Amino acid sequence: MKTGPSLVADVLVCGGGVAGTMAAVAAARHGADVILAERYGFLGGNATAGAVAQFNSWQTANGRRVVAGLASEVVERLHAYGGAAAHHQFVMSTGHKMDRVEYAPEVLKLVLDDMVAEAGVRPLLHANLLDVRSEGRVVREARLLTKSGVVTVTPRVLVDCSGDLDALKQAGAGFLELEEGEALQPATMMFRFGPVNFERFEALSATELAALSRQGFEQGALARAALHAARDPFSDDAWFNISRLGIDATDATALGRAEIEGRRQAWRAAEYIRRQVPGCEDGRLRAFATQVGVRETRRVAGDHVLTAEELLQPVQFEDAIAAGAYPIDIHPAAGGDLVYSALGDDHAYQIPYRSLVPAALDNALVAGRGVSATHQALAAIRVMTISMAVGQAAGTAAAMAARADGAVRSVSVDQLRETLRTDGACLA
Ligand SMILES: Cc1cc2nc3c(=O)[nH]c(=O)nc-3n(C[C@H](O)[C@H](O)[C@H](O)COP(=O)(O)OP(=O)(O)OC[C@H]3O[C@@H](n4cnc5c(N)ncnc54)[C@H](O)[C@@H]3O)c2cc1C
Repeated sequence: MKTGPSLVADVLVCGGGVAGTMAAVAAARHGADVILAERYGFLGGNATAGAVAQFNSWQTANGRRVVAGLASEVVERLHAYGGAAAHHQFVMSTGHKMDRVEYAPEVLKLVLDDMVAEAGVRPLLHANLLDVRSEGRVVREARLLTKSGVVTVTPRVLVDCSGDLDALKQAGAGFLELEEGEALQPATMMFRFGPVNFERFEALSATELAALSRQGFEQGALARAALHAARDPFSDDAWFNISRLGIDATDATALGRAEIEGRRQAWRAAEYIRRQVPGCEDGRLRAFATQVGVRETRRVAGDHVLTAEELLQPVQFEDAIAAGAYPIDIHPAAGGDLVYSALGDDHAYQIPYRSLVPAALDNALVAGRGVSATHQALAAIRVMTISMAVGQAAGTAAAMAARADGAVRSVSVDQLRETLRTDGACLA
């Protein structure tokens, strides 16, 4: 195999989704020399390639802010491009109230590019992780497959934000199993549909929308009983979140099949929407997301496994590095209704630093949808707001660890928390 350049970095972030990009930016702003490796030619992961198109849950039900820091900066920058709507409350397909910021995925690509460039991160795009070499508990190098051949990166600290934790898998980390009766959350092929007459579409009552959703599901046109949409800020289009693909997205064959089936489900749903949903009569399916959005695959076995009980209590952690208020939201793999239970008015929970530390390794961290949490707890903390907050914490910690030869457990948690607060993050 052709051998490309060998690179050295303080921090290698593997995966440039929202968690990885925030981790890379935070680490670079704190003085680390950072390489951000991403398999696509753009950043954002589910947020751009998956076209999720709305950042949910910035605050508690009574309006107390629990996610800020770099995540807020992303939204400010989106607004500067005109690529996001105002923060507002909406009613979810479950009937629950939620807050969100809708954004244009294409503009988010630009915003993430800007943040990475300004922070001095070295992006390595079109770079697929090939393998990782570790010695005992220490990650030594990662190899990436690129157009220049195999690029070797020797980092002091590895931050795995690939969602699927491909790097930690190669490095020999342990992973958490699903409990009896649990299944991985399904993937979804988002699709763009328009034009939508939003005046009429948004005038539908929750009861009318629920009846149309139920009818579409029972007729086999909708893979789940929902007509959930995020509005594109630049047009009269919306990104619909309807399809259901019960797969393990780390299985290459299953992932390929899901892409094909996802497009079929999206097409059927779009036809139903056009025929049956008021305000959508003139619309057409205009685009599929670049890839199916993946909610859940590997979760690392970390120094602490965050549980649903800890979120619901909520436990106050001495090493809390981020907070959140998104409820536990489990999409059943086979379609049908969500498991979703709203939290109390002022209820926020915390995420401890130890859930970012893979138990089996000394110089690695994780952020985003692969953190050490039970299936149920991940169903809450996986949203992009919280993923960005955890990414910021992981990057800040990685920069601190890189100054101490990469030992992530030698990071002073008090200093980490203080730095995060100074950088505008909410920890409770
Ligand atoms: C359909 C769907 C709807 C959702 N709805 C919402 C919502 O409404 N609001 C909300 O806030 N959240 C929502 N979420 C959750 C949220 O989008 C994700 O949990 C979040 O984006 C996870 O971010 P991440 O950075 O951890 O992972 P990802 O977005 O998965 O990013 C991982 C990155 O790593 C890269 N990568 C993966 N493997 C490799 C490799 N081997 N080599 C190199 N690069 C690699 C990927 O290309 C990607 O860029 C939704 C998720 C899905 C799937």
